[in-house]
Amino acid sequence: MSIYFISDLHLEESRPDITQAFLQFIDTIQTDAESLYILGDFFESWIGDDENTELQLIIKTKLRAFTNKGASLFFMHGNRDFLIGDVFAQETGASILPDPSIIQLNGDPVLLMHGDSLCTGDTGYMKFRATIRNPSFLEPFLKRPIEERRVTAQQLRTMSQANNQNKSSEIMDVTPEEVIHEMTKYQVQTLIHGHTHRPKVHEIEVNQQSAKRIVIGDWDKNVWYLKITDDKPAELLHYPLTQTNTAP
Ligand code: MN
Repeated sequence: MSIYFISDLHLEESRPDITQAFLQFIDTIQTDAESLYILGDFFESWIGDDENTELQLIIKTKLRAFTNKGASLFFMHGNRDFLIGDVFAQETGASILPDPSIIQLNGDPVLLMHGDSLCTGDTGYMKFRATIRNPSFLEPFLKRPIEERRVTAQQLRTMSQANNQNKSSEIMDVTPEEVIHEMTKYQVQTLIHGHTHRPKVHEIEVNQQSAKRIVIGDWDKNVWYLKITDDKPAELLHYPLTQTNTAP
C-alpha cells in the first residue's frame, strides 16, 4: 500500500487536460492507495461549497468514489481554494487538515504545509492573505450571491497577477530562514509543501541534522506526485500531463 501527495493542480474549466489527468490519476492509484493528501490549490478558484459547477461535481463524485472504496483523503487549503469547507468534506469523504499539520510517516513526524505562509519575503502578499482570511471579510462574502462572489474572486485574481509581475523570483519563493524556523519549531526533519511550483527535494540541515524539504510540483505540464510505499524513502515522481495510462 502507498501514500500519495499531490498539490497545485489548479483545476479549472479552461484546462480539461488537467481534469482528465486527475481522473486518470485517481483510477491508477486506487489499486494501492492507502491515502491521498492534497496540499492545496487543488482548484484554481473556490468561492464557497454551494457553487457546484459541472467541473466541481465531476471532481467531487470522483473523490467520493475514491473514499467509498476505503482510501483516506486529506485536504489542506491552498491560497486559491481556502474557502473549501465542511460541506465539500462531507460530500467527498475528505478530512480537512489545518495548515500546518504534522503527520507520522514511517515513525517520523513530518510537517505538511501548502507553502504560501513560508513566502514571508512577499510582504504585500502576506498582508493580503491576512485580510482575505479575516472573518470580517469572509463572513459577509460568503453570504453574497454566487454571481457576485465570482466577480470579486476574478477581480482579486487579476489584482494578484498584476502585483506578481513586478516581484522577483526570490520573493515569490519560500524564505529559507522561515523554513528552518518552522521545522525547528515543530521538531521535524521533513517538510512537504507545494505552492511555489518548483518541484525539488532540498537537502538541508535542521538542528544540526540532515533534513529534507520536499516541494511537490504543479500540474501545468506534468503530473507531479510524492509516493511513499511501506518504509521506503519518499519518491518525488512525475510524468507528462498528456501521457495517458501511466502507472504511478
Ligand atoms: Mn498556492
